[in-house]
Amino acid sequence: MSNEIRLRYAPSPTGHLHIGGARTALFNYLLARRLGGKFIVRIEDTDQTRNVENAAEKQMENLKWLGVEWDEGVDIGGPYAPYRQMDRLDIYRRYIDQLLAEGKAYYCWATKEELDAEREEQLARGETPRIAEKHRHVTPEQKAVYEQEGRVPSVHFLVPDDREYVVNDLIRGEVRFESNGMGDFVICRPDGIPTYNFAVVIDDYLMKISHVIRGEEHLSNTPRQLMIYEAFGWEPPQFAHLALILNQDGKKMSKRDESIIQFIEQYRDLGFLAEAIVNFLVLLGWSPGGDAGEEEIFSKEDLIKLFSLERVSKSPAVFDAAKMNWMNNHYLKEQPLDFIVELCLPHLQKAGFIENDPSREEYERVREIVALYQEQMSYCAQIVPLAALFFLDEVVYDEEAKGILREPQVPEVLAAFKRHLEEAPEYNVESIKASLKNVQKETGHKGKALFMPVRVAVTGQEHGRDLDKTLYLIGREQVLNRLARVLS
Ligand code: GLU
Repeated sequence: MSNEIRLRYAPSPTGHLHIGGARTALFNYLLARRLGGKFIVRIEDTDQTRNVENAAEKQMENLKWLGVEWDEGVDIGGPYAPYRQMDRLDIYRRYIDQLLAEGKAYYCWATKEELDAEREEQLARGETPRIAEKHRHVTPEQKAVYEQEGRVPSVHFLVPDDREYVVNDLIRGEVRFESNGMGDFVICRPDGIPTYNFAVVIDDYLMKISHVIRGEEHLSNTPRQLMIYEAFGWEPPQFAHLALILNQDGKKMSKRDESIIQFIEQYRDLGFLAEAIVNFLVLLGWSPGGDAGEEEIFSKEDLIKLFSLERVSKSPAVFDAAKMNWMNNHYLKEQPLDFIVELCLPHLQKAGFIENDPSREEYERVREIVALYQEQMSYCAQIVPLAALFFLDEVVYDEEAKGILREPQVPEVLAAFKRHLEEAPEYNVESIKASLKNVQKETGHKGKALFMPVRVAVTGQEHGRDLDKTLYLIGREQVLNRLARVLS
């Protein structure tokens, strides 16, 4: 085996890029970069019943958006092409034939229904289901009958007896599996398409993969894969299985769990930033240790220097949505305003607050509104509720707001403010400031007694950003209308 460092991410195109998958891809990518090796994206699509159209393309697009770039893959080719398993069927066939010829695999003529029925019986007897040994041997007469019946065999791998297979996992240490009781397993279905456990070995070997980092759910597949490496006399890659990601209740995250946003695309649509997601994902299982012990903010470049499997935990990681928001807020704050405006625009358009093709002035106004909230947003879709008060005609007053507007000084304060605004030759932050000063002089009300009713009357809210600026951006006409409505 060469000493080349080659890692791969091998998604099955069964749906959107999930946070778990994105983490796996990221860890493989980071280790490849850290060790100066290659990172490959391969598509494992031999379970055709589960394939979803365009899922592979979409997953790759989202990986690219995250900044996880690959050196070889379906879209860009490479020295070990093709990188999509369904394009490699003739390659697998050769190796299946080899195992058949060497007696390490055999044709099984049982139908799917027969195997399912067997499985049911085993379960009913309280046994762990496995393929019965009786299928290993078929007399030539039986075979002739089956062929006459039009049966097409599948290929099973013959699992050796009395063996122990040891996975030397780079994260979990030695994990031992007994071969007895495992049962033979299907490596090629009757339609000639190999199963995952077979194709993955052929590809990892032929593509010279040095390290396989993947989710813990694949740990139990690994002994079967080790058997196939052994059958061919190949040296397996090094394995590293990542612990689960749990939800906030400490339960295994299911894809239907609605307490967590699970797909990268959803984060992207909500206006999360790729850098923040990468930073968040890497901390789901990895920690920097050493000098960077307490540090939590890492750029991709930092991570390429720091990442190592020694610092990946074997205990499950807990997905903390509040931390994801915090992390994204951290990165949002650092971005140039115009970039954030571009991310906010589609949300404001979708909400019907602004035209699809805003005028220069409208754009400028949006820019100033976004500037008010850049510090405070966790993700850009939040601009819609935050900025609604600038775009909607109707202000809704809750009980607390109504209580404030019933205070005795309110009519006098609002009427005076309205008058000063109407009389001001111009409408801008300075004139608004001056008007408020004048109201104070005129009525003697100041501080909270003055500002709170104005804020609540115009925005419906007790808290918010800088009052003068807010009033300015709402616009003179709207402000006067709202004051008039409260006064009437
Ligand atoms: N295709 C498998 C999956 O999507 C990955 C298997 C592997 O990495 O070996 O879960």
